[in-house]
Amino acid sequence: MKKDPVHFLLVDDLQENILALQALLRRDGLVFLQANSGMDALELLLKHDVALALIDVQMPEMNGFELAELMRGTERTKNVPIIFLTAGNTDQQRRFRGYEAGAVDFLQKPIEPDILKSKANVFYELHKQRQEVARLLKESREYADALKEADKRKDEFLATLAHELRNPLAPIRNGLEILRRAPDAAKQKDVQDVMTRQLIHMVRLIDDLMDIARVSKGKIELRRERISVQNIINAALESSRPLIDAAGHTLLLDMPEAPVWVEGDLTRLAQAVGNILNNAAKYTKAGGKISLSVIIDDGIVDIRVGDNGIGIPHNMRDEIFHLFTQAQRTFQQSQGGLGIGLALVKHLVELHEGTITVESDGDNKGSVFTISLPAAATLESAVSEAAQESVKTPNAGGLRILVVDDNVPSAKTTAWMLEMIGHQTSMCHDGREALEYAEKFKPQVIFLDIGLPSMSGYEVCKALRQNPIFKEALIIAQTGWGQKRDRDLSEEAGFDHHLVKPINLQDVETLLQKKIAGTIL
Ligand code: ADP
Repeated sequence: MKKDPVHFLLVDDLQENILALQALLRRDGLVFLQANSGMDALELLLKHDVALALIDVQMPEMNGFELAELMRGTERTKNVPIIFLTAGNTDQQRRFRGYEAGAVDFLQKPIEPDILKSKANVFYELHKQRQEVARLLKESREYADALKEADKRKDEFLATLAHELRNPLAPIRNGLEILRRAPDAAKQKDVQDVMTRQLIHMVRLIDDLMDIARVSKGKIELRRERISVQNIINAALESSRPLIDAAGHTLLLDMPEAPVWVEGDLTRLAQAVGNILNNAAKYTKAGGKISLSVIIDDGIVDIRVGDNGIGIPHNMRDEIFHLFTQAQRTFQQSQGGLGIGLALVKHLVELHEGTITVESDGDNKGSVFTISLPAAATLESAVSEAAQESVKTPNAGGLRILVVDDNVPSAKTTAWMLEMIGHQTSMCHDGREALEYAEKFKPQVIFLDIGLPSMSGYEVCKALRQNPIFKEALIIAQTGWGQKRDRDLSEEAGFDHHLVKPINLQDVETLLQKKIAGTIL
């Protein structure tokens, strides 16, 4: 850190006296200000922070005492310590003491060099300490301000979080009431659609929250593979379509026919693109236009999402990528959200050595977000797409599925869902009981919760895998814990898959269809 110099003011009408004082007091870090009159001295005092003023008493026009009086009368200079250099007698000293206060000393001419030096030193050191205290004070004030700001942002965030999580609950609760009163089929469908959308919204908020926490701790791991951008976009659209359709927006797609390849994690990139699409749907008035295009140029793939919505003010174009930043100018424009989506997208894209940028002409002029990723070399690689196609083998018959969960409503609804898509189910709510019952029921698939009474899901899975009957069974962890460590533990215990609650029926169907395809082969 740069050290501030210490200033001494030397006031004497005779220049040779000033030079003599300088020669005597010179030291590193000390700067001398010279004045040959009281007026010059006052001018310098107004410009500089002075640690000590050495003032000759006998000067023409304004003498040393008059100068000192003026200094005492001004806020900025009233506390500057003074040493008078005087040839006069002690009476003079007493007179001045009569109407002043503060650090004042007198040195009789001819001056004793050692005495002057040691006195000046005291003021030099005092000033240094004052500077240090002022610096510390400034730093701690800044620190306190930063803490206060962070605390305020945290409070605001918690309030927003509570608000945003509660919002979707109201329509879900209303929906349940309506369904209980057995409405006609059309109303039933409407209500269910609303409830589903709200639930998806809530799950998304919570997923984003968990992800941002992981990202900021550097804990997100990518499962990198060669993927086509078309695949990423299809996956993103699967989750964003309902929101786009619900708002009556038109979606214009412009993608090259031939696959465009990138290296990356399909789920994470689809999440990034999906987030941008959701925002386009959210921040555009109903019946708007959203465009999604893919452009490949010079080894860079641009995924561009445009909308004709509310636009982004010029000064917010970098800000919106910061955590918890929202650009809404009015409450009406606020569309629900936590202000973490774009921060997350930026992180995810950067983990893929990509960038995200935004263009907007401002108020109601729409926005265009561009995710740019390095293209992967083109290969004859329809393999992975073909592999994904084979997943869609038709459901050739029901499976015997055991659902193990101590949360009874969760177990029940999972079982009902599985029955409705043609499988045969049974339930257990305790680990040990599940182990015994499985021997009789001989399930081909087991949905197993991790936190169970008497035995954990990990222990149950390990025990099942020891039994030859269950060597080939599809065992799926169904849990609220989705961190990398949890996934590693389930893999170690012998689980085939790790699904985080609430599970998505489509994901489940895909897994079950794979199992069916496997048993048929
Ligand atoms: P959230 O949508 O939860 O507020 P995001 O991080 O996804 O959080 O977005 C941050 C802010 O960026 C939004 O609050 C909004 O002000 C602005 N924004 C994002 N996408 C758009 C868009 N397509 N049009 C206008 N504003 C947008």
